[in-house]
Amino acid sequence: YRAKQFGRNTLQHHDGDSSGVGMPRGEQEELHQAITADQLFLEYQPQVDVATGRITGIEALVRWNHPAKGRVPPASFIPIAEETGLIVPLGLWVLNEACRQARNWQDMGLTPVTIAVNVSAKQFADPDFASHVAEALERNRLQSRWLELEVTESVVMQDAERALAMMEQLRALGVRLSIDDFGSGYSSLAALKTFPFDRLKMDRSLVEALPGDKTAVAIASAVISLAQTLKLSVLAEGVETDAQMDFLRQARCEEAQGYRFSKPVPPEEVSRLLQGQLP
Ligand code: C2E
Ligand code: MG
Ligand code: MG
Ligand code: MG
Repeated sequence: YRAKQFGRNTLQHHDGDSSGVGMPRGEQEELHQAITADQLFLEYQPQVDVATGRITGIEALVRWNHPAKGRVPPASFIPIAEETGLIVPLGLWVLNEACRQARNWQDMGLTPVTIAVNVSAKQFADPDFASHVAEALERNRLQSRWLELEVTESVVMQDAERALAMMEQLRALGVRLSIDDFGSGYSSLAALKTFPFDRLKMDRSLVEALPGDKTAVAIASAVISLAQTLKLSVLAEGVETDAQMDFLRQARCEEAQGYRFSKPVPPEEVSRLLQGQLP
């Protein structure tokens, strides 16, 4: 199956409607092209067990190979995709591609790891989202326990009732749900109280100043123990140094992700890394 399948009819659908206001028409068209002409690709970043250093999960991160501009980072096009609604077919492509890759790694006899996929607000609000997830798993013969969906707090807080219903459907499928970028921006604790997350990803901004800065230490420690109390597993994002790792180990943070281990890499590089940890 190609990206085309996921992009079909979308442009037509958004033609002349009011979404994507202020968006140059050309940009929308280009992004639609990106989906249908196979210009998107995924890179993968390992998540490691802090105590053992072993890879336990992989986050899929989308990139755009633009015909003229070359490689474009998600921060430059995900917001446009969100505004125009193109995030729905784009996200569907990411979901399927990530599941396909996870199936490949398992077929290679590598240690099974969780594949984590970022999900944005419009995708989560799509009533068909849970069935798209079920289809992606089925199509790739991937057990639901190996799929994790990452959402930020703003995704669930926008329409809490609907988000909760969606989360329950997804949990019934058996996929894991994590709250991404926890502690960034205007986040509060409300989402943790209301929604059934399995995992908390502590934002890079809380990890950055560790372990030198006392306030950063206090906040990170509090977040880690909060997660433990709420029976959520906890992962630190943006870990770059040994000193940060030492702190996280002491604070009993379970997992970490960041340049200290690996930047996001192509799938072949992940295969090589997983190969290296076969028993
Ligand atoms: P995110 O989900 O919080 O992903 C982590 C981002 O931090 C990635 O940036 C990653 O490359 C970067 N990062 C990881 N470790 C380090 C580190 O040690 N230091 C520093 N400075 N940065 C680190 P990236 O790939 O540019 O993605 C940015 C954001 O774009 C993601 O943040 C996510 O919100 C969004 N995104 C990426 N792929 C998708 C996707 O498929 N769908 C949706 N809806 N959003 C996506
Ligand atoms: Mg993420
Ligand atoms: Mg994050
Ligand atoms: Mg982030």
